Amino acid sequence: LTQTASLKNEFEIKSTLPDIVVPNMRFLDRMWVDSSKFKNLVALESAETKKSYTYSQLQTNMASYATSLHKKLGLAPGDVVAVMLPNCPEFAVIAFGTLQAGCVLTTLNPIYKEHEISHQSSITKPKVFITTLDRYDTAVKGLKSAKIDAKIVLIDDPSKPLPDNTVRYSEIAEKGEADYAMLDKIERKDDDIAFIPFSSGTTGLPKGVEISYKNIKASIEIMSEKSNKYCNMASDSFQDIVPCVLPFFHIYGLVVTLIGHLTNGCKLVTMSSFSASLYLNLLKTEDVSLLYVVPPIAILLGKHPEVTHEHFSHVRHMVCGAAPLSASDVEAISIKAKRKDMEFNQGYGATETTSLTTATFIGRQNDFDSCGELMAGITLKFVDPQTGNPVPPGELGEMYVKGPIIMRGYHRDPKSTADSLTEDGYFKTGDLGYYKPGVGAYITDRIKELIKVKGLQVAPAELESVLRSHPAVADAGVIGVPHEYFGEVPKAFVILKQGLKASPEDLQDFVASKVASFKKIDEVVLVDSIPKNTTGKILRRELKKMYA
Ligand code: AMP
Repeated sequence: LTQTASLKNEFEIKSTLPDIVVPNMRFLDRMWVDSSKFKNLVALESAETKKSYTYSQLQTNMASYATSLHKKLGLAPGDVVAVMLPNCPEFAVIAFGTLQAGCVLTTLNPIYKEHEISHQSSITKPKVFITTLDRYDTAVKGLKSAKIDAKIVLIDDPSKPLPDNTVRYSEIAEKGEADYAMLDKIERKDDDIAFIPFSSGTTGLPKGVEISYKNIKASIEIMSEKSNKYCNMASDSFQDIVPCVLPFFHIYGLVVTLIGHLTNGCKLVTMSSFSASLYLNLLKTEDVSLLYVVPPIAILLGKHPEVTHEHFSHVRHMVCGAAPLSASDVEAISIKAKRKDMEFNQGYGATETTSLTTATFIGRQNDFDSCGELMAGITLKFVDPQTGNPVPPGELGEMYVKGPIIMRGYHRDPKSTADSLTEDGYFKTGDLGYYKPGVGAYITDRIKELIKVKGLQVAPAELESVLRSHPAVADAGVIGVPHEYFGEVPKAFVILKQGLKASPEDLQDFVASKVASFKKIDEVVLVDSIPKNTTGKILRRELKKMYA
């Protein structure tokens, strides 16, 4: 037994930073521990409407909203609230007010269609669903198809009438009364679920990722370690300004941007969707000091003819994650920025790891192709995907990650949980890479099914199931192919039923009508066979080779 245990731990790579301690206090008490220093500063402002909230308004609205969840909407601790909103200041009220009420937040992409809302709602069973008036019809259809009877809360212009049986957000968050005595009594244990964002993991359909209070408290401590702390604590004379274009429904936006920066009193400027002109204007008109981007935005900043050094005049750090970026893209930005004191940091993480697990440390810009060194409390090992045995540092293997930020598991899905977490606490990332001592981790390939379009997840299994629901389709296999700006795009191989006809364009349109626009299939190829193993699993690597 001892021998097996030591073999298992062989080749583990541990963070060189001091270990973190998960604080023995409530999450929000930790998040607001320094808030007296910045309570009158602006916490969030909408880039579009300019509506803004100070930290003290944010806290008051959170408490009113949390109280209303109990007293007006009848929720109890542990009940699920679904939010389907673009980035806006109110998102923060909802995210953290939901936790203040002891409830659980699940986040949906605001451009989801009925099919996607139905899938996510049938797993999370929300009691309250929060969205905007223009998304109301789609939300109702999605909830109906999942047979979920949730109360619908709408954020909208107060002058517009709302459908019957819906609740106006401002009534519960901005005009509601806060019952602090009740809220203070709500208990949340470290192992309770805080958030359920969605991820397809290594295989299959999108799954609910259970992020616990321990996970988010640990994330705050990890992001506070000075090698990885990009923002500075606000004071009367200083405040970091951070544009928030990465979606809050994704773990990167929710934890790294929102939690990471609200803890430090930064000013977050929300953008509801990416618009190059609005973004570039923001960089010029506000003293933006921190940029959190995904590769398509980084590539745009390096290539866009209008981008000049003036856009970077106050930027200290530009942090890129969610998908691979190459050193040449970083160089293109440095040439434009003409600033020796602006740092580029690449980070690597996954929804299942709550926040970043590796990042280039501040002041240690070794190699821009690397996604950096192990953050505090993180252990890695690289494993031969065929044998499951760990490989020595430097050799190629599937990256396994361990630490206090690894998810509890997939919601109501013990089988997928068991397949993705090892007995000794590692999460199998499905990413292939290696570790270079003193420099960091390198991701060279993705062995999981996942396709990443503009940093967002597209599950091939989801597109295949939509394609198979078309009356003329017998079978379908979907893979990701490289794309200059988007990183990857989905390509489908389809076998038609004998005697039935459908053109590739028909099939593309059919899928586009059912899923969010970033998932649309770039190309459909009609074929006679799709390679599968004996259990019927599509061999995507073979598929790639067969039709290369
Ligand atoms: P998500 O759960 O949507 O954050 O997706 C996580 C996946 O994104 C990882 O497992 C990787 O495949 C990919 N990813 C995230 N960050 C990076 C990075 N810096 N370089 C390469 N791939 C990345």
